[in-house]
Amino acid sequence: MKKVLITGAAGFLGSHLCDRFIKEGFHVVGMDNLITGDLKNIEHLFGLSQFEFYHHDVTKFVHVPGKLDYILHFASPASPIDYLKIPIQTLKVGALGTHNLLGLAMEKGSRILIASTSEIYGDPLVHPQTEDYYGNVNTIGPRGVYDEAKRFQESITMAYHRFHGLDTRIVRIFNTYGPRMRLNDGRVIPAFMGQALRGEDLTVFGDGSQTRSFCYVDDEVEGIYRLLMSDYTDPVNIGNPHEITIKQFAEEIIKLTGTDQKIIYKPLPQDDPMQRRPDISRAKEILGWEPVVGREEGMKRTFDYFKTLSKEELVKTEHRNFKDRNRK
Ligand code: UDP
Repeated sequence: MKKVLITGAAGFLGSHLCDRFIKEGFHVVGMDNLITGDLKNIEHLFGLSQFEFYHHDVTKFVHVPGKLDYILHFASPASPIDYLKIPIQTLKVGALGTHNLLGLAMEKGSRILIASTSEIYGDPLVHPQTEDYYGNVNTIGPRGVYDEAKRFQESITMAYHRFHGLDTRIVRIFNTYGPRMRLNDGRVIPAFMGQALRGEDLTVFGDGSQTRSFCYVDDEVEGIYRLLMSDYTDPVNIGNPHEITIKQFAEEIIKLTGTDQKIIYKPLPQDDPMQRRPDISRAKEILGWEPVVGREEGMKRTFDYFKTLSKEELVKTEHRNFKDRNRK
């Protein structure tokens, strides 16, 4: 049985990847420090002999007994409000965590796939974003902690690939959504859906003319799986190129949720990218991949998930244990 280590296993994307690799017949080792992840996302896997879980922070030395065929490094805060609240951990998991996992891959002879992001393009001056674009990042801005950690992550991964001949893959993930997103993670989809469920007005930042392109989680996981199994070692954008302004998106959510909420406008956060859309020519050509779930269907599935949350979970809360977390 092939064995895979997935870091960030209790997070949104990590937990869906665990499901996918279990389905493919792998032995899955999940690892998470549970700072932003939630065991609820993987509790259905705990009874399986194919699954084991380590509560561990990958910025500390990582050890997994036995062989490891593949490593997927998905541990990281992934929402702008998380990087503002836990900036040092965000930098550490992208830098020190990646270094530890590359070392583990060397030791075990594993192929390693690193989760990078559209954020490495910053507030892009090239549109749509191709993998050849170097990006436009404010290194000292509040989002810089995530962007630069991920840029360093790509650099050190390529250095291990070139210098040590390590078998590496780099996926650049664009805004992905679906069930198991954290309702209070501050990102636009859980924010709008939570507001609709609580009967609050939808908060659009800025004038809402900024754009994003949202990819349903099943499509994202399929692209990641294909990239891991390919022999392609340069970065690949995996995202949905269907672009929409945030204002139009808020209107779509109001329609989908059947509520009569209004849109209210709040200041645009610093360095909020004005446009984002992946050019997925490379993924199409190399992986034969493109997204198949449309926004209407994907949003419906996501809203159905949020509707199953309890009243307490719906209450707008600050992050649990936020104070404890800051002291770590
Ligand atoms: N946004 C918004 N209202 C919210 C949350 C986010 O208008 O309540 C905007 C945000 O300013 C950004 C876009 O939605 O332009 C996507 O934000 P998100 O935090 O989901 O992710 P990003 O793509 O910025 O990393």
